[in-house]
Order: sequence, then C-alpha cells, then structure tokens
Amino acid sequence: MSECIFCKIVRKEIPSEFVGESSAWVAFKDIKPSAPVHVLVVPRIHIESIANLEPNHDGIVAELIFAAKNIAGKLGLKGYKLVFNVGAEGGQIIPHLHLHLLGGWSRQQDIDAMPHPGLDK
Ligand code: AMP
Ligand code: ZN
Repeated sequence: MSECIFCKIVRKEIPSEFVGESSAWVAFKDIKPSAPVHVLVVPRIHIESIANLEPNHDGIVAELIFAAKNIAGKLGLKGYKLVFNVGAEGGQIIPHLHLHLLGGWSRQQDIDAMPHPGLDK
C-alpha cells in the first residue's frame, strides 16, 4: 500500500476537508492555504507529476480541469488560478499529481499585486 500522503487522503486514511469527489479524482481544502480559497484536485491513481504523464493519462488531466471548473462554479468564484507545480525545481513538494485551484480574492490591492507569469519582467 502506498505511503504517499495524497494516496492516503484518497483512501480516507488521513482526514481532510473534501469539497468533491468522483470515481477518478478527489478535491479537498489545502491545509496551508495560499489564497482565500485553495483547493487541491487530485487523481485517485498515483501519478507523480505532469512530467510523468503517459499518453493514456490525457483523460484524467481533462477530468481534473473540469472538476476544478465545476468546483469554482459551486464556490461562486468569478475568477481563479489553476496551477500545476512540476517537480522540485517547479515548487512541487508532494510527488502525487495535483491541480491547485486558487481564488476568492476580493480586495483590489490583492488583485493588482498578483503575479502574472510570463508578463512580469
Ligand atoms: P505542491 O507544492 O504543489 O506539491 O503543493 C502541495 C500542497 O499540499 C501544499 O499547498 C500543501 O499545503 C498541501 N498539503 C500538504 N499536506 C496536506 C494535507 N494533509 N492536507 C491538505 N493539503 C496538504
Ligand atoms: Zn500518491
């Protein structure tokens, strides 16, 4: 049985605050939120990261994105960020694929201060 922390959350061996689940994924609140709303959408199967995707994983990646979109709608988010950290050099700490859903900012100063990857000098 996998010792991976997200595999344990998927199997409900570690408590977490679920906000949705399907036969392919689970979604739960990040324990250390980086935004007013911070949800992780995690495939039930253990795939280490985006860098480890095989061609037959295209369906699951699409499901994660649709799940995040639907959860964002359910939570009433008008705008949000979807982020995959890839590998240690990409800031990935937990080696089980996960999509970060970040949102819920309402203060204009927070929105103005947001990084814009690819556009910042
Ligand atoms: P990453 O840096 O992309 O690997 O993100 C991993 C995320 O998992 C971080 O934002 C952590 O705060 C979060 N995290 C770690 N352990 C737990 C846990 N037990 N329950 C919920 N979120 C967690
Ligand atoms: Zn895992």
